[in-house]
Amino acid sequence: MSYHTATELAQIGNHKDKQTGAVSTPIHLSTTFAHPGLGKSTGYDYTRTKNPTREILEEALAKLEEGSQAIVTSSGMSAIQLVFQLFPAKSEFLVSRDLYGGSYRYFDELARQNGSVFHYFDDYESLAAQLTDQITAIFLETPTNPLMQEVSIADTAKLARRYQACLIVDNTFSTPLRQQPLKEGADIVLHSGTKFLSGHNDLLAGVVVAKTPEIGERLAWLSNTTGPTLSSFDSWLFIRSLKTLKIRFEAQERNAQKIAKVLTTFPQVEKVLYPGIGGMISFYLQDTKQIPAFLSKLRLITFAESLGGVETLITYPTTQTHADIPTELRESYGLTANLLRLSVGIEDPQDLLADLEQALQWQE
Ligand SMILES: *Cc1c(COP(=O)(O)O)cnc(C)c1O
Repeated sequence: MSYHTATELAQIGNHKDKQTGAVSTPIHLSTTFAHPGLGKSTGYDYTRTKNPTREILEEALAKLEEGSQAIVTSSGMSAIQLVFQLFPAKSEFLVSRDLYGGSYRYFDELARQNGSVFHYFDDYESLAAQLTDQITAIFLETPTNPLMQEVSIADTAKLARRYQACLIVDNTFSTPLRQQPLKEGADIVLHSGTKFLSGHNDLLAGVVVAKTPEIGERLAWLSNTTGPTLSSFDSWLFIRSLKTLKIRFEAQERNAQKIAKVLTTFPQVEKVLYPGIGGMISFYLQDTKQIPAFLSKLRLITFAESLGGVETLITYPTTQTHADIPTELRESYGLTANLLRLSVGIEDPQDLLADLEQALQWQE
């Protein structure tokens, strides 16, 4: 029987420990498990392969994304690396042009290491124009980080199927509460679990969910073989965080909707990028020179990398998250030096707006 999402989330791990009735999932720190006899197993042998705490987290995430199997890893980047181990050297990929800077850096390195080729697309039209039988997989970020560009997952999935390309979606920004890529036809969905899913700026984790058991088993085999596994303690912390995902995300989204609207009224703000859902807002200032002063005047909002947590953070992609993308390339698609990215938390929106307003005061 399936419950509504809020119920499923709050109940993760409950009713699982038959021996003690523990409501909070026990943290199984044991790395090894006794065999009842030769050729016999309790289902658990060695923690890299399977761990009871991590298993509860993976089952919950697979359900949340409606996939057949989830694998949790030690960071979003190790999740991305795990997925790319599916493909042989010299493969060709189609990738969103606007992209998390760390993903760009990894793809750039992979191209150098094993001769893989990465083609970048700006929108659905340029994706369709570049798709050929040579493309092994499409890697889609939607909305993109930080420019909030959107490409339809369902349309891309139809195209991908025609060319037998694997469709991978980085769903970090929307979370399964707003977007379920596997239901729209993607083969693999992944997350930086560090962001909204865990949501407290205290846990580094990655998530991969496969649509089919075949891909799921292959990814689990690769994870056991290469060992990017999340620890038991962090798995427990992730479970605890997921219980409040829905109320956190909805509060962040409500705040972001209010703030995005007000930001457009400030004369110091040139343009606001907000897709209407979620807790992420990017905006351009009229005057690039004011950025250092603006950032140092903020008292409540923290100038820091990362996103999705309960505390509001502001990031300067040019020198932080996207510094590894060459300047000329970055500027050619709109990631210019006057862009700021706001990750809205769960504070009272009036306090956040007051902080932005006092920091945005200067003579034009
Ligand atoms: C942060 C982020 C990543 C990388 O995740 P880590 O947990 O920092 O390794 C990947 N994709 C997106 C969209 C991100 O925001």
